[in-house]
Amino acid sequence: MDFYIMTLFPDMVMEGLNTSITGRAVSKGLLSVEAVNIRDYAFNKHNSVDDYPYGGGAGMLMQAEPVYQCYQAVKERIRSKRHKVAPDGAGNPGGQKKPRVVYLSPQGQTFHQSMAEEFAKEEELILLCGHYEGIDERVLEEIVTDYVSIGDYVLTGGELPAMVMVDAIARLVPGVLHNDVSAEFESFQENLLEYPQYSRPEVWHEKRVPEVLLSGHHANVEKWRREQSVIRTAKNRPDLLEKALLTEAEILLAESVKEENIEE
Ligand code: SAM
Repeated sequence: MDFYIMTLFPDMVMEGLNTSITGRAVSKGLLSVEAVNIRDYAFNKHNSVDDYPYGGGAGMLMQAEPVYQCYQAVKERIRSKRHKVAPDGAGNPGGQKKPRVVYLSPQGQTFHQSMAEEFAKEEELILLCGHYEGIDERVLEEIVTDYVSIGDYVLTGGELPAMVMVDAIARLVPGVLHNDVSAEFESFQENLLEYPQYSRPEVWHEKRVPEVLLSGHHANVEKWRREQSVIRTAKNRPDLLEKALLTEAEILLAESVKEENIEE
């Protein structure tokens, strides 16, 4: 999968994403991450890409044209990469498909795991990072396909949100993690949080690892983990349980945890 990040701070993005698991996946050729500097498409001699907003107000706004030109350059890179992969267009899953362009914005839909799973199916993804007070609305209308927020707070730029998205999506790309994520239970799968986990030693600060995990009894371990997931979710994220498929016994368990929470 290829990520293109349109930003005024390419070093910040590349330094963050070139390390650890995403960095390794890039070296292995499982992913490519390219930060494209919007400033390279400035059209005045001062190299500036921002200006005052019409109608007044605090702060500056990123202008439409540099963002648009940067987008055209990224689109061209994608086109030529697709052409290299399949010069005759045959067998090229991307084909003529327009790449999705995500504008990171506090006004977008809140990012969540199933959104990451959906984006992971794309061949390419363009992420557009705003700065200052944001970006001229007209270019957003022309190029953006998705508006995504990473939470209800305002950051100074879209770089950290773009890195959050790349990290969450990249780990779902086959081969990026050692284990197969789709086969593993993780938080948010089935609208439950993950169960608690333990590693060696068996006793640490006088706290023992739950006996069932040492039993080697696979079915009992699974049963315990599922119960713990229900308990955790009821305690920390009861909102998720509304969409979870629970057995009668699990519903009762969740209710008792919620009641205990209220009493505390
Ligand atoms: N004036 C904008 C508003 O009130 O909606 C906020 C602009 S913010 C200071 C600058 C840039 O940071 C935005 O263009 C966006 O790219 C990014 N940003 C800030 N908070 C974000 C969030 N919660 N999620 C995603 N991007 C965010």
